[in-house]
Amino acid sequence: MINHNIPLSDDVEGWWCVIHKHKVLLPLPSQKLPFGKFAELNLPITRPDIVHHIGYKDETPVYLIQANEHDFERNENDFCGLRQVLFQQGDMFEYAARAFQVDLFLKTHKYCGQCGQEMELIDWELATHCRPCNHRCYPRISPCIIVAIRKGNQILLAKGAKSTSGLYSVLAGFVESGETLEQAVHREVFEEVGIKIKNLKYFGSQPWPFPHSLMMGYTAEFDEGEITICEDEILAADWFTLEQMPQTPPTHSIAGKLIERTKAMMRLA
Ligand SMILES: [Zn+2]
Repeated sequence: MINHNIPLSDDVEGWWCVIHKHKVLLPLPSQKLPFGKFAELNLPITRPDIVHHIGYKDETPVYLIQANEHDFERNENDFCGLRQVLFQQGDMFEYAARAFQVDLFLKTHKYCGQCGQEMELIDWELATHCRPCNHRCYPRISPCIIVAIRKGNQILLAKGAKSTSGLYSVLAGFVESGETLEQAVHREVFEEVGIKIKNLKYFGSQPWPFPHSLMMGYTAEFDEGEITICEDEILAADWFTLEQMPQTPPTHSIAGKLIERTKAMMRLA
């Protein structure tokens, strides 16, 4: 059993995810998570009373330190935003992603949403608990579907109205309350581009901590309809052959992996 909230003694050794104002400490030049005992690391923060155990890396504990209140004199380049970690230090992403989400959870669940009293941390699971009314909260995870649609040797790619990258990608959207994942895929595709799909197949998933999504990927085939975009959500959408492919997300994102899988199918079509 994991004890989630650890008093920080001199023996506590592990990997340290220090989160400061939406950035994680990955000191130059290695830009890796600091490893060792807290006192030996010369981290630029006051020693906290409690650290949060958020998992294991190479069978060694990973701890979150919330340092949002600190002012750092240290080089700002020692801190990385989560997207930067994703694109530049991909192997650190899993831990940074979890640390960001737990940090956000702890920051936003200090008081009970039901009765307004102060919540307390539970040790045996990652949760906050309100003693007066017994309300318990866990880190929020928001399921999203993401789907690559193929029509013969073409793939449907779209540019999202809210996308910050400007890349063409596969369609994605949040699952609504009371909906199955499969219903969400069919609904989102129809809402965003006005087509029907078939042969939906589960592909895989990826935590997407912006701020707390879980992307669940599918492949599908075109069934019927003409592309009719929902302009609130989509700027442009079209069918692309391998020769026409626009710039798409990198392959360490699930969108990139789905596109690669579909391209392999397009080659066979
Ligand atoms: Zn309460």
